[in-house]
Amino acid sequence: MNFQAITERFVNIMRQKAAQPSDASRPPESFAFYHQIRQLSQEPWTYEDSELQDLAMSILPLERLFEEATKREKEGDGSWNYQDYLIQSLLTWFKREFFSWVNSPKCERCQSDTNLVGACGPNLEESFQGCNNVEIYQCNSCSHQQRFPRYNKVRPLLFSRKGRCGEWACCFTFLCRALGTRTRWVWNAEDHVWTEIYSYKQNRWVHVDSCEESFDQPLIYEQGWGKKMSYCIGFSIDSVRDVSNRYIRNPENGNPRNRCPESVIGHAIKLLNEEFRSSLSEKDRSKLLDEDKREEEELLSYRTKGDVPSSALPARQTGSEGWKHERGEAGN
Ligand SMILES: [Zn+2]
Repeated sequence: MNFQAITERFVNIMRQKAAQPSDASRPPESFAFYHQIRQLSQEPWTYEDSELQDLAMSILPLERLFEEATKREKEGDGSWNYQDYLIQSLLTWFKREFFSWVNSPKCERCQSDTNLVGACGPNLEESFQGCNNVEIYQCNSCSHQQRFPRYNKVRPLLFSRKGRCGEWACCFTFLCRALGTRTRWVWNAEDHVWTEIYSYKQNRWVHVDSCEESFDQPLIYEQGWGKKMSYCIGFSIDSVRDVSNRYIRNPENGNPRNRCPESVIGHAIKLLNEEFRSSLSEKDRSKLLDEDKREEEELLSYRTKGDVPSSALPARQTGSEGWKHERGEAGN
């Protein structure tokens, strides 16, 4: 089914809904959210570029990562497999050696601290590299002003190797994919993004946050950071899923899910899965449906488990104190 047909189906459904008085104010907002989900769903497809994956192979310290994964597998308790340990090794290297967090960049002239003084659109070259927004910083010492382009495309990030959550999640999710793992890029409505990888050992999607070097700690945001959330949606090339239940265990303390009726988001996700899986074999589609069922059960089970103690979960490591406070991520 093509995009136009899907959109027409959706518009018809929304027209029917608009005829019902209680939903009269819903359609435009719902439509915007539907479009946003469709747009976000394109992200994992950009990781499938084989030339880009070859470039990743030339950048990654493969021998070291393979050795480290083998060692972890030998010393591990058998709950993960080699591929999972490979991602854990990648995570350590990515966080500690490859990528840098930028609160505000150092002055390119005198290396002093800088302050954000504004923003502007990208120039032609930045735009070509996939930059949508440029932050302007002024040096506290020499007053020099410099640009900090925010990239959300893999290629420039493989070279700049710096940024905040968006850049980290984009580059790390891509590298997991380049290493042959099934990956999801997870979008959160409260301005955070992270990764999920599929573990064939555990038969489930596993949370990974490269900014925090966090592996399988889905409650780190709600319980560790004290972050209030509404929607978390995972996107891969063959599976789109509302994974909010995995990350939001106490929705009554979270932000309200009021961007559109639940039926609309369910419908949007269903259509995307149909579309993404349309070229797969019957056998592969059936495997994915089994996986969907397992995940549905897993996600539903979190609704009945209740609160989970936060003692073991770390506070947010990345970002300045002021920035974390502004974002409601400075802990409870
Ligand atoms: Zn300076």
